[in-house]
Amino acid sequence: MPEKNIFKRIIDREIEAEILFEDDRCLVFRDIMPQAPVHLLVIPKKEIPSSNEIAEEDAELIGHLFLTIRRIAEEQGVAESGYRVVLNCGPDATQTVRHLHFHLIGGRSMSWPPG
Ligand code: AMP
Repeated sequence: MPEKNIFKRIIDREIEAEILFEDDRCLVFRDIMPQAPVHLLVIPKKEIPSSNEIAEEDAELIGHLFLTIRRIAEEQGVAESGYRVVLNCGPDATQTVRHLHFHLIGGRSMSWPPG
């Protein structure tokens, strides 16, 4: 049996995380190495390794993740000040966890382009 990745283990409550929101399709928790005052990870419960593996049938799920991002950004008080949603896919983008996730980053001003 292939080893579970760390986010699947968080979904299954095998390791702890500071979970802010959960429903039947997704989970939102704090990044363990925050890069800003607000740094959350929004993940589907479905095991999708990266954006390369998003299927047609996932379209509604991806929409649900973005509606969750919008709502959590409001709750965290960054909807007006602004925030960044980051998806790293593959080695050049430094993806380290092979489970689709969106970083929701805010609470400070940021620069562009990213490093
Ligand atoms: P990425 O480089 O896009 O794959 O980002 C993975 C993110 O997961 C990094 O920002 C890590 O700090 C974060 N991370 C790794 N392990 C944990 C964990 N156990 N709990 C919360 N965040 C984690």
